[in-house]
Amino acid sequence: MVELLAHSSVLLGNLERIRTKRDCAGCQSIVAALVGVKEVAEPDLPGLDARLRFDGRSFFCDLYPHRQEPSTSRGPMLWQIEPADATQRLYVARMKYARFMDANRIDTGLISSWIETCDRLHSNAITHTDGASPMTQSNLPFLYLIDLEQECLVRVYLDGGGDGSSADGPPCYVALSYVWGRVEIPTTTTKNLAQLQQPGALSPQTFARTSGTRLTRTIADAMSLASRLGIRFFWTDCFCTVQDGGAEKTMFINAMASIYYRAYFTIVASEGPHGDFGIPGVCRDKNGGPSVDPPPPPRDIICRHMTFPGAVLQTEDMMGHSTRSICEGTPWSTRAWTFQEAFFSRRLLVCNGTVSWVCRSFRSEEWVACEHGAKGTAHETPGFISDVPDWPDMKQFGRLVLEYAKRDLTFDDDVLAAFAGAAAVLSQSFRPGFHFGLPEMFFDVCLLWEGDRRNPRPLRRREGKAIRLPSWSWVSVKGALFLDMWMCFGSHFYAGGLLLPDPRLTDPLVRWRKTLLRPDGHLVPGEYVFSAVHENSSSLISGWSLTRQPGAEQTDYSFSHPTFANKTFSLPFPVLAQEKESNPQPETMYGAILAFTAKRLWLTRAERLERHPWLECPIYHTYVLRDDKGTWAGVLSDDEVDGDALEETFSHGDETRCELIAISKTRVRDWKYAEGYLLEWELDEHPSADRIEDAYDFYNVLWVRWQDQVAYRKGIGRVSADVWDRLELDEVDVNLG
Ligand SMILES: [Zn+2]
Repeated sequence: MVELLAHSSVLLGNLERIRTKRDCAGCQSIVAALVGVKEVAEPDLPGLDARLRFDGRSFFCDLYPHRQEPSTSRGPMLWQIEPADATQRLYVARMKYARFMDANRIDTGLISSWIETCDRLHSNAITHTDGASPMTQSNLPFLYLIDLEQECLVRVYLDGGGDGSSADGPPCYVALSYVWGRVEIPTTTTKNLAQLQQPGALSPQTFARTSGTRLTRTIADAMSLASRLGIRFFWTDCFCTVQDGGAEKTMFINAMASIYYRAYFTIVASEGPHGDFGIPGVCRDKNGGPSVDPPPPPRDIICRHMTFPGAVLQTEDMMGHSTRSICEGTPWSTRAWTFQEAFFSRRLLVCNGTVSWVCRSFRSEEWVACEHGAKGTAHETPGFISDVPDWPDMKQFGRLVLEYAKRDLTFDDDVLAAFAGAAAVLSQSFRPGFHFGLPEMFFDVCLLWEGDRRNPRPLRRREGKAIRLPSWSWVSVKGALFLDMWMCFGSHFYAGGLLLPDPRLTDPLVRWRKTLLRPDGHLVPGEYVFSAVHENSSSLISGWSLTRQPGAEQTDYSFSHPTFANKTFSLPFPVLAQEKESNPQPETMYGAILAFTAKRLWLTRAERLERHPWLECPIYHTYVLRDDKGTWAGVLSDDEVDGDALEETFSHGDETRCELIAISKTRVRDWKYAEGYLLEWELDEHPSADRIEDAYDFYNVLWVRWQDQVAYRKGIGRVSADVWDRLELDEVDVNLG
């Protein structure tokens, strides 16, 4: 790294050489930035030299032909800086002083200082004995952990006892989150379990000798990193779950949320596509690193900022600054299982080229020389389990689903299992829990998911091999979802005290009944999906109090309940007593089919809408619905799911004749509420378009198609109540799969 003082310049040299020189983050960053903003083209790099010049206010990069004298002021201005406080330290873009980074070595001293500060300032995020937490209440008698001092597997009892526990309580361990990928990874099995419990068994040399294969690089590096940070115990799935352990393995898989939650922190190894990539920057010299294994490649620390003594030069736009610590674009960020691992953890040590420390209060990045927890620094944290409130937060749930629905699974059968831990935790507030990924408490609203109309890429069907995923649930598709109905409901439901368009947001029209599929193929009706509306009259609703704002209009009120201190709601909802032993996965008890009776009618799927009438952006998968006379009736969002095996089996009759069943009715009085997501509001033909003060009543309808007496969702729409109520309807018994 070069030192650059005011009114000086430094020769960087040939751009091609800079690009291939892997040990100067600053020079690398400049070339990446020049190429990134198309200041120079890739093929021109060998023919160009560069000089970095600083005139006291701005950085310039002068470009000139290779081996010629630099002419002045030819190149682009990279960034302008403002001299800041009296000490003349330089601030750039409000980022405080930069830190030098070593491409070959992760600075464990820095990480230790983050941890120490975080323990001190943010201890609410790490309390071990958080009695109220659902995560510590799981029935987990013991864990296998790797003892990094004895270099072997130990069995640790969580209520005290075993090798790793102490009088102070359960052991302090670090968990690992990584992408297993398509590589062979040595594991613990019933066959080698006893061997791996011998002291030294997991040292690289001994392991190589006894097992005939070396430790997987990512796991070995993470163990080494944890050890250097002074942590004694370590948890990773491949060693700490006996892979052919039967019921014991199931117990650990079901307790995954608890395992990550209990961890002191989680190391996220997100560089590289698989578990043998390693964690660049972790030195492998302890216990014979290079002799057993070649040194790891240098870290990818080409970042959007380059560091100078006392200043940061930002080489790309500010918006991208957090993409490193959220691992954007890495395989790790696309996997469904790692979604849960990060969500359950209380703190993350992210190794993604540069190193970041993320707790629920703060995000520290290696390249920013800023104390962990320093005031006035913007931060955003991913969803953490420790942020889940004790009331049913629909918006948080919606954000989790949006993120999870994009994630990849090797086996689509795992879609519920990989979400089960999150669902179990959310069930503490969304009582009585979830049915195929939808909270029963707000089931009718949550059926109103759509594919993202702004996204040209269609949804893809998740095809379970062993289980049939229901077409009515978002778990059956992968891709970009549009959940504004959930979000609007969330906003209004919790907007107690505000003037509301209508307190009754969505009226269910259907009582949903779960079903069991007997081995002989017969469908047996099960219990009803819990309905907050139908239970409202019961004693469950007691305990709520209504507060009116003095002198305000009739609708200006809110509900509160002593269980949710300082929180008001637009409507009361049943507060179920928390059961001591909650059923962890009720989904597995029931089949995918919902049985119910509903009103239906047929409408024509007419012209496709190609531009959003209000936002003026292209939209996809969206159609106008018309009745037999051609009158405007509503809008339809076609699921248009890709890779739908089911699709092939439908008889291809009249594609435009849509069978619609009504599932709920919504009234909107406030046009502000409508314009964001009810795109039909702005259509010229919309009956309420000219009467903006009026209410818009519509039916939420499912577009279904049948196969073997089972209906499947094909799309979702809204039909204006004016139209629906004057058409002839029939009633139909539906088994919706
Ligand atoms: Zn912290």
